[in-house]
Amino acid sequence: MIDLRSDTVTRPGKPMLAAMSAALVGDDVWGDDPTVLELQATLAERTGKEAGLFFPSGTQSNLAALMAHCARGDEYIVGQSAHTYKYEGGGAAVLGSIQPQPIENAPDGSLPLDKIAAAIKPIDNHFARTKLLALENTIGGKVLPAEYVAKATQLARDRGLSTHLDGARVFNAAVASDKPVRELCAPFDTVSICFSKGLGAPVGSVLVGPKALIDAASRWRKVLGGGMRQSGLLAAACLYALDHHVDGLAQDHANAAHLAAGLAQIEQIRIDSHATNMVFAHVPDAHCAPLEAYLKERGILTQMLYASRFVTHRDVSREDIDTVVRAVKDYFAR
Ligand SMILES: *Cc1c(COP(=O)(O)O)cnc(C)c1O
Repeated sequence: MIDLRSDTVTRPGKPMLAAMSAALVGDDVWGDDPTVLELQATLAERTGKEAGLFFPSGTQSNLAALMAHCARGDEYIVGQSAHTYKYEGGGAAVLGSIQPQPIENAPDGSLPLDKIAAAIKPIDNHFARTKLLALENTIGGKVLPAEYVAKATQLARDRGLSTHLDGARVFNAAVASDKPVRELCAPFDTVSICFSKGLGAPVGSVLVGPKALIDAASRWRKVLGGGMRQSGLLAAACLYALDHHVDGLAQDHANAAHLAAGLAQIEQIRIDSHATNMVFAHVPDAHCAPLEAYLKERGILTQMLYASRFVTHRDVSREDIDTVVRAVKDYFAR
């Protein structure tokens, strides 16, 4: 199957499985799994932060971070289309008693500075206490402009807020902008990074930040059920991905550009945007379900029903992209 539904579908190859089965393990709840400790220290070093913490998912890593930054009755400023706000079941409110203050994202994924400033509430018993600004990079595949990130995080600091980056795909952002990941993480207090997306590990996210916040997040991770035992098996996959899969993201980005160019030749399809490893296309409503079914019969998995998003990743080759474009052309030529 050629699976363009998401970059989460990547499967571990033999060398990654070998690294996993060779991993030294302990009991991470007792803090003595050497491979987890190595992954956490490696990520802290790579991102220029004091400490790291391994999580089973990005959702839990973001949630524990929000709960470390904000207490009950506090508020965080976040994009209307941010993953933490829109795609994590409202966890900050449900489990953290944290009020989200969503702001409409601009087309480039940023939150307009004047809207952030206007959303910060005065200290007054009427209002939730605004504590945190959370951004996302990449967002919808797009790399947030560096000058924007510098200004937004400076505004947050000037107003006494802390900052969190949902950097699920921050390695895609680093590769696409040819900057060290450390530079993209520098403006933020905490950053959550996914290994189960384009980096190709089966499971896992790492939260990095100052030791005090990571200690607080570690307590919340346990409360949220994320304390894992011989998780060095999983951490070994993440370490393998870090050593072997980062450079390959550039190929995923080139494949997405190739896909966008191919689809753009088809009269019935409009490309709304493409950046890093994602292509957003407009497929006429009446064609979404039949095209999806047509492609599935030919071994191509897509999802067009709620957003026609095509995602490239390490298990999709350039030839696969040509196959997909040909199949879409054939569908419309019938
Ligand atoms: C995938 C993703 C997450 C975390 O998702 P999990 O499936 O819980 O690992 C968080 N933020 C963004 C932007 C993501 O794409």
